[in-house]
Amino acid sequence: MHCPFCNATETKVIDSRLVGDGLQVRRRRECNACRERFTTFETAELVMPRVIKTTGIREPFNEDKLEAGMQRALEKRPVSTEAIEQAISRIKSQLRATGEREVKSELIGNLVMEELKQLDKVAYIRFASVYRCFEDLRQFGEEIARLEQ
Ligand SMILES: [Zn+2]
Repeated sequence: MHCPFCNATETKVIDSRLVGDGLQVRRRRECNACRERFTTFETAELVMPRVIKTTGIREPFNEDKLEAGMQRALEKRPVSTEAIEQAISRIKSQLRATGEREVKSELIGNLVMEELKQLDKVAYIRFASVYRCFEDLRQFGEEIARLEQ
């Protein structure tokens, strides 16, 4: 990174260590040009990306909304709260893992579908039909037929 003192492009790391229970890396750097020393901290980006809706409107990621959508699909289905919470946690991890600042709402829909497919086939079909993730009715019919087998 650039030197904050003289803006030179070449700086070298002279010391590197884990801090904050290993959640952060502290680096001591020295500028090759002016020899000033400075410290940088590196942490994983844990913020959730913002959601780009189909209308193009951006909004903050809303876990309650995600859970409500899944609960609706899972209504009266034999799936434990714990299993739902774990599914939500996996979806959030995958969203963070994209490293993107913004993700399309479709991506979240697809991740929810993948989780529901594992949790409960009926909930999966309910969710998929509500969110019109099937391109046409024929494809939807095929999916139901496949699951019934
Ligand atoms: Zn410098």
